[in-house]
Amino acid sequence: MLEQLRQVTQAVSFADGQQQKLDVIVAEICRALDVEVCSVYIADYQLHQFVLMATRGLNPESVGQVKLGFNEGLVGLIGQREEPIHVQQASQHPAYRHIPEIREDEFNAFLGVPIIHQRKVLGVLVIQQKAPRQFELDEETFLITLAAQLSTILSSSEINEWFEQPPNEYFARIVRGVPASAGVAIGKARVLFPLENIHSIPDRQTDDIEGELTKLGAAVKATHRQLEKMSRRMQGRVSEQELALFDAYQQILGSKGLAVEVEEVIRKGFWAATALRKVVQKHLNAFKLMQDPYLRERANDIEDLANRVLAQLLSSPHGRQKIEPGTIVVAENITAAMLADLPANDIVGIVSLKGSSTSHAAILAKALGVPAIMGLEACPITRMDSKQLIVDGYNGQLFVSPNQTLVNQYQVLLDEERQFAQELSQDQHLPNATRDGMKVNLMINSSLGTDSSRARQTGADGIGLYRTEIPFMQLDQFPSEDVQACIYRDLLQEFEGLPVTIRTLDIGGDKQLSYFPIEEENPFLGWRGVRVTLDHPEIFLVQLRAIFKASEGCEGFKLALPMVTTLEELNESYRLINQAFDEVEEELAAIGKRVTKPQVGLILEVPATLFQLKSFAKRVDFISVGTNDLIQYLMAVDRNNLRVKNLYSHFQPAILRVLKQIAHECEHAQIPLQICGEMAADPLASLLLVGMGYNELSMNIGSLAKVKRAISRFELSEMQQLVAEIEAFETEAKVRDHLLKTMEKRGLGGLVRAGN
Ligand code: PEP
Ligand code: MG
Repeated sequence: MLEQLRQVTQAVSFADGQQQKLDVIVAEICRALDVEVCSVYIADYQLHQFVLMATRGLNPESVGQVKLGFNEGLVGLIGQREEPIHVQQASQHPAYRHIPEIREDEFNAFLGVPIIHQRKVLGVLVIQQKAPRQFELDEETFLITLAAQLSTILSSSEINEWFEQPPNEYFARIVRGVPASAGVAIGKARVLFPLENIHSIPDRQTDDIEGELTKLGAAVKATHRQLEKMSRRMQGRVSEQELALFDAYQQILGSKGLAVEVEEVIRKGFWAATALRKVVQKHLNAFKLMQDPYLRERANDIEDLANRVLAQLLSSPHGRQKIEPGTIVVAENITAAMLADLPANDIVGIVSLKGSSTSHAAILAKALGVPAIMGLEACPITRMDSKQLIVDGYNGQLFVSPNQTLVNQYQVLLDEERQFAQELSQDQHLPNATRDGMKVNLMINSSLGTDSSRARQTGADGIGLYRTEIPFMQLDQFPSEDVQACIYRDLLQEFEGLPVTIRTLDIGGDKQLSYFPIEEENPFLGWRGVRVTLDHPEIFLVQLRAIFKASEGCEGFKLALPMVTTLEELNESYRLINQAFDEVEEELAAIGKRVTKPQVGLILEVPATLFQLKSFAKRVDFISVGTNDLIQYLMAVDRNNLRVKNLYSHFQPAILRVLKQIAHECEHAQIPLQICGEMAADPLASLLLVGMGYNELSMNIGSLAKVKRAISRFELSEMQQLVAEIEAFETEAKVRDHLLKTMEKRGLGGLVRAGN
C-alpha cells in the first residue's frame, strides 16, 4: 500500500501542469485500486461549484463541462461535510443527482473523499464500480491518504497554472506567505538554487545561444570522461552486468541521445541548465508512468546522469549568474548563512519558501532593512527567475509579474514609506521616552556589522544584543582568537561610550556552521547555545578570551549567555568566564594594560528558567528575555514551522501573562530587565512591554524609529492601562485587534501597516 501511494504521488508530482497532474491521478488510482472509474472534481470558489476536471471511465467529453453547485449531488455533500461518503448504490442516495452526459448510470458503487489543504476543500476524488458493492476499508483509507498527500501538490499546481498564462491586466498573481521583514520592494527575481539537484534549476532564458551550446558540449564531454574513468575503476570489482550501466549512461548521453534534445531546447532561447532540466523531466515523466518496475527504476539512472552533467555545467565560471542591483532573491530555503554571503546592497527584497518571521534569515533581513516574505509553501520558484516581483513584507504577499496598475500602486506605497521614514527621522533628536518623559532604553540587535553612525543617528541607546554566531557563519572554519578579537574590537570601538551586550556563540537550531554541522531530529530541542559551548570549552574559551582582549580599554560592555536551562550550566559558564578572564587579565597586565570584568546576563528563553527565576536572578547581573525562543517553547511551536504559524504569536494571552510575571519577579528581585526578541520591534507590542515594566527594548535597527514614535505618544499610565485592558481578552485575535484600534485612534496606524 505504501509503495502504491509513493508511486502515485511521485507520478503526479512529476507531471507538468495542472491538467496533466489530474489525468495522472485518475489513471494511477484506477491502476492502483483496480477500479473502473476514477474522477476528480475541482472546487471553483468564484462560482461556488465543483467542476469535473479529469476522469477515467466516465465520458471524457464531459470534462470541464459538468458542474455541480457546492450544495449539489454526492460531490457537493462531500465538500460540505468535509468527510468521505461511501454508498453501494449511488443512485439511491437522497443527495444523488443524475447527470446524463457523464454516463455513469451503470456504475453503482461510489466512494468519494474530499481533497483538503489548510482547512480549504480543493476538490473531491471519486471512485466508482459497476457492481453494487462495499469498497474495502483499506481502499477507503488509501483514497483518504492519497487525497491528503495530493492536496499539497494540487494547491501548488494551482499557482503553477498562473505562470502558464500571459500577464493579465485584471488578474494579479498573488502568492501568500508570512510577513518576515516589513516593507515593500519592487524588483527582478533571481532564483538561488542548490547546485546538485536538477529539479531545482529555474527557468532562465538567454540571448547567448551559441555560448550555451558550447557550455553544454563541454559539460557532456566532461561527463563522458568521468563515466569512462568510473567504469575503468570499477572493472574487476563489479560484475559485467553492473559495468554495463556505464555503457548505458554513455549511450543515453551519446551523440543521438539526451544532448541532442537539450540542444534543441537551448535553441529556443533557454539557458543550458534549464534546457537540461526540461528534457530530463519529460523523460522522467514517461519512465515513472511505466508499469514495469525495472523500467520505472531507470528513471533514477536518468536523474543521476542529469545531475552529473549539471554539476559540470555549473562548475564553469559562468555557471551561476551574479546578483545585480535591484534584485529580489528567491530560494527554497534562505538561511542566515546564505544571506550573510550575499551582496546586501544589491538586494531589495527576499522571498523564501521556507522560514517564518522569527527564523534567523528573517532576523537578518530585518537587520539589513530588506523587506522579506517567507513560508510560501506552494510556489513554483523554478518559474520565477527574471520575473518582476512585488514583495509586500507587511502583509506577506508576493505578486508575480504584476500588471502596471499594481506596480504603480506599490510605487506609491514605497514613496510613502520613504517619506514616512523621513518624517520619523525628525524624532531622532528627541529622547527615547514615554510621552510623560519616562526614559526607555531603545537598543539595537546587531550581527552583520551594524553601521554605527546610522545607529547613533536613529538615537539608539546602545547594542542590546550582538549575535556572535553570524560572523562565524560567514567563515569556513572556526575563527581564531585574533580574528574574533578584531571583530569584537571593531564593534566595541564603533559603539564606544554606549553599552554593548555581546552574546556568546548561539549555534544549533536553524543556525548552522558549514564547518561544524549539527544533524539532529529536533534541532530546536537539541544542542544549542551554551549546551554546545559548554561541551566544547576549547571553542568557548577562545571566544571568551577574544571578547575580553577586545574589551581592553572599553567600559560598559556586557556578556549574555544563550539557552541556559539549569543553574549548573550557569555555574559552569561562570567557571569558564572566570578562567578566560583571569588568563587575559594576567596577559594584559604583563604589558601594562587592564581589562574590566563585564556584567553577565541570562538570555531568558527556556521556560524551565521561569520556575527558578529567583535563583538565577541572584547569580546574574541582568536578564534579557529572548521571546523568539521563549514563545516557541511555551507554545510548543517550532518557530520555523508554517503549519503551526498561527499559534506562534507574542499576543497569545498565555505569553503576555508570562511576560508580565517575569517583569514582576525581576522588579521584586531588583534585577535589570531587557527584552531582545523580535517582539520588542513591534510598535504594538512595545506599548504593552513598557506598560508591564520593561524599560529596555532591543530590536533591529529598522524598527527603532517606529517603536520610538509609538512609545513617545503614550503616557506610562496609558500603557499600564492597556496592559490591564488586554488581560480581559482570552484570544490572540482580540488582543491584537484592541491594540490596532488603540494605535489607529492615536493616528499611528502607519506604524504597523503600509501607506498613509
Ligand atoms: C530569542 O530567542 O529571542 C533571541 C533573541 O535569540 P535568537 O533569535 O537568536 O534565538
Ligand atoms: Mg534565542
